[in-house]
Amino acid sequence: MSVRIAKNSGFCFGVKRAINMAFEAAKQNKNIVTLGPIIHNPQMVKKLENENIVHIDDIVEINHRTTIIRSHGIEKNVMEHLEKNGVELINATCPYVSKTQQYAEELSKQNYQVIILGDKNHPEVIALRSYAQKNVIVVAKADELPTTKFQKVGIISQTTRRFEDFQNLVDALLPQCTEMRVINTICKATSVRQISTLELAKESDLMIVIGGKNSSNTKMLAKISTKFVKTHHVETATEIEDSWFSKIEKVGLTAGASTPDWVIVEVYNKVIEIMGNVNGNVEKIEEIPGF
Ligand code: SF4
Repeated sequence: MSVRIAKNSGFCFGVKRAINMAFEAAKQNKNIVTLGPIIHNPQMVKKLENENIVHIDDIVEINHRTTIIRSHGIEKNVMEHLEKNGVELINATCPYVSKTQQYAEELSKQNYQVIILGDKNHPEVIALRSYAQKNVIVVAKADELPTTKFQKVGIISQTTRRFEDFQNLVDALLPQCTEMRVINTICKATSVRQISTLELAKESDLMIVIGGKNSSNTKMLAKISTKFVKTHHVETATEIEDSWFSKIEKVGLTAGASTPDWVIVEVYNKVIEIMGNVNGNVEKIEEIPGF
């Protein structure tokens, strides 16, 4: 029996950076809020609350407190409003997300019809579309596209989408436009996690995907894994049930880019404990890479 963790899993560069910025700020003993949860992981949000960093959902709640801008970024007009009003900001927007915002703005200024692959209700996409000056089209997949003909189309993606969906969107749009500019803004941290998950899922009897139920990239990992093998998406070790492991030989674990290390380790330990109880001794346990 074996328990393995996907080669690339857990915190990405942008999330690590945002969390480090928040903890550094907490050391200064400042009165701090985050505008929206800093990352999509309830356990980490709770941990920050213990450091007196609370999250608010509306700028009217700022009350002169230092405000952390989360890794997904915020709308352009909201950022400008906060700067104009002298709010002390700690901008933890992931640099890759900021770059994507710049592309949205540039394409729009150059009169491209901006088309974004993404979830229109996700904070990153809400912020992203605010950078385009004109009407923006957001689609979650190619078949949501309008049948309109376009002169100039500029295509970008929410950083956590699947490359395959991006490619399908480009293929579908090509016959509908005269000129096309494609900027692949899918983050590498996302794609490597997806590939590692896919490879591990193919070799496992059961997969457990660890991360916030509100985390877009974690949900995507669960979706990919489900295609190959029975998969459970959990936020913490407490959700794991003994019954999942009956007659299971090979368990694979993977985690989204916003899942803290300590949550992954807790799940790993719990799985080993249950497999030992349900299936006898766990004969082969691989080291936890990176922990
Ligand atoms: S997944 Fe990529 S774009 Fe998103 S926060 Fe992490 S590093 Fe930044």
